[in-house]
Amino acid sequence: VNLRLMGSALERAFHTLLPVNRYPIAFLNLEVPSSQVDVNVHPAKREVKFSDASQIFSLVFKACTEALQPITAIPVRRQMESQNCKRPESPQTVFFPGNGYSPPRGYRIQPEAKQFVQEAFQMEQDAGSEDIPGFTVLGQVFSTFLVVATASELRLVDQHAAQERVLYEKYLQLLKEGERPGQVIIPIETPLSGRSRQFVEAWLPRLTELGFKIELTDEGMVLKEAPVLFKKILSEGDIIEIIEYLQQHEGNEYNLGDYQQAALMLLACKGAIKANQRLSASESRQLLLELDNCQNSRTCPHGRPIWVAFDRETLEKIFARR
Ligand SMILES: [Zn+2]
Repeated sequence: VNLRLMGSALERAFHTLLPVNRYPIAFLNLEVPSSQVDVNVHPAKREVKFSDASQIFSLVFKACTEALQPITAIPVRRQMESQNCKRPESPQTVFFPGNGYSPPRGYRIQPEAKQFVQEAFQMEQDAGSEDIPGFTVLGQVFSTFLVVATASELRLVDQHAAQERVLYEKYLQLLKEGERPGQVIIPIETPLSGRSRQFVEAWLPRLTELGFKIELTDEGMVLKEAPVLFKKILSEGDIIEIIEYLQQHEGNEYNLGDYQQAALMLLACKGAIKANQRLSASESRQLLLELDNCQNSRTCPHGRPIWVAFDRETLEKIFARR
């Protein structure tokens, strides 16, 4: 039978879940006492008449709304609630999408995503204050991207790439001004393999120029200073990794004899740079401020983009408003 009432109940339940001019499909199994339905209203029996149409409408709408809740993931406003409305025992077994239905990927909020979303909201209250002219830091997602609003666009900033750029320019500036590009760290004693030791011995003067302060011991070495490119607290594992990385790549992709290439090489060492790290609101602002002062604030020293921007027009296109 043709039941426009059911169609509109269904459409209402799907409401904003479907784009304009798209319509839901459903298999509806509706059991109604025969006393409440008149099947003799249409010559070809294509229509039926319910004695209480609005009750049926509410019933279908409510059941559909509940069935769709896993997709919407946010509480659906309870509309048209009717106390005297008899409902099926288990709407999920009756109405599409019922048992066994799995919403398409992307509609469900993954547990880790929930945590990241919370992170964004947990940023300190002062996150919105405008220390940087024209910039508002809205938050951080995935412990990786800063979300920033400017007067004309929404920006996602890769904090790791931004950090690399800031450190790279700072490091080269120190070298250019003839200042020592190293920082004092908590001294760490590290064992060295035979080949690593040969490498350190051969390159010791250059490593010292680049900001390392290394004292060779019988078993290995003690590191007392490290380039300002690196995080301030290094573990023994970090140092072994750095030395092995330098040893493997020197002369192949990079040349330690060249300051710029040396800086690129040091920045590429895993373990040397902070990554995937929660930034406080003030740390985020500090990073953006320093990035703003860089000669190049668009790409990291290895050429990857630091940020992407969405202006109003782009956003409106994405949301099909244009
Ligand atoms: Zn890079």
